[in-house]
Amino acid sequence: MQDSAKNTRARQPTVKMTTDYKDPLKDGYSRVELIDSMGNDLSIVNDARASFEKTSSKLDDKDINLIKYLIKHNHTSPFRGVIFKFKIKAPLYICRQWWKHVIASNHNDEQLGWNEKSFRYVSIDDSNEFYIPQVFRKQSKNNKQATIGSLDISDNNLAISIYKKQCEESYQAYSQLLALGVGREQARGVLVPSVYTSWVWTVSLQALLHFIDLRRGDGAQSEIGAYAQTIVELISPIVSNAVEAWSSAK
Ligand SMILES: Cc1cc2nc3c(=O)[nH]c(=O)nc-3n(C[C@H](O)[C@H](O)[C@H](O)COP(=O)(O)OP(=O)(O)OC[C@H]3O[C@@H](n4cnc5c(N)ncnc54)[C@H](O)[C@@H]3O)c2cc1C
Repeated sequence: MQDSAKNTRARQPTVKMTTDYKDPLKDGYSRVELIDSMGNDLSIVNDARASFEKTSSKLDDKDINLIKYLIKHNHTSPFRGVIFKFKIKAPLYICRQWWKHVIASNHNDEQLGWNEKSFRYVSIDDSNEFYIPQVFRKQSKNNKQATIGSLDISDNNLAISIYKKQCEESYQAYSQLLALGVGREQARGVLVPSVYTSWVWTVSLQALLHFIDLRRGDGAQSEIGAYAQTIVELISPIVSNAVEAWSSAK
């Protein structure tokens, strides 16, 4: 089991996780799980050498230098032959940011590699299925989209209780609407955007590195940054040389 999965959980998930996963937001609910992958560092160099009709069977120093060269000179297509499939569970507002990354898998069709939970099919049955931050950051004064520092302890505690209350009330309104016989597709409209949703994301290594670049960057929201960092940790054992070359090229 991954380290984060061993963390003590203040709030236990209703559905027990069966496989290894990481918990980027460290609340016992958020999740990134690498469920499948195709290719590795060796396939990157073999795809690149397709132009010479050459293949390697074992990664050597020449291959590692080739990976560095490809990254340095923006030879991107060999990185599209490595594919990862993740199961992700994140607050709806993080999912909304993620969804803007339209280049998925190794195709150009929008959203080909995205399959998401539908609140039309399933209802939530746990008032804890909301992400409640434990540390509230202050609004930045000179960057409209950013936060800076954190509230002092007493204001932070108050913020947690205001936030939690709103999530609970949203869940109560939702449950009452369902009990009245309102359909799930309409009742979901009262759920606040910190409600957890989940999806399966199939993505090429090229698109993934681009996602990590943007979402682990300075301007990005730290919650999605935590997901991006978790993904780096999950893919590093498979494409360690590509990740290293790409990190040093930044
Ligand atoms: C800090 C931050 C703040 C943001 N704020 C906002 C915001 O306020 N509002 C908002 O709507 N979005 C916002 N975004 C989303 C941003 O505009 C991008 O949509 C998102 O980051 C995905 O980037 P991308 O298009 O490069 O990625 P991908 O969709 O993965 O695309 C990868 C690359 O493919 C190429 N590409 C993709 N689609 C096309 C196309 N149709 N035509 C030509 N080339 C294409 C581009 O080179 C692109 O960089 C924000 C993103 C970040 C990181």
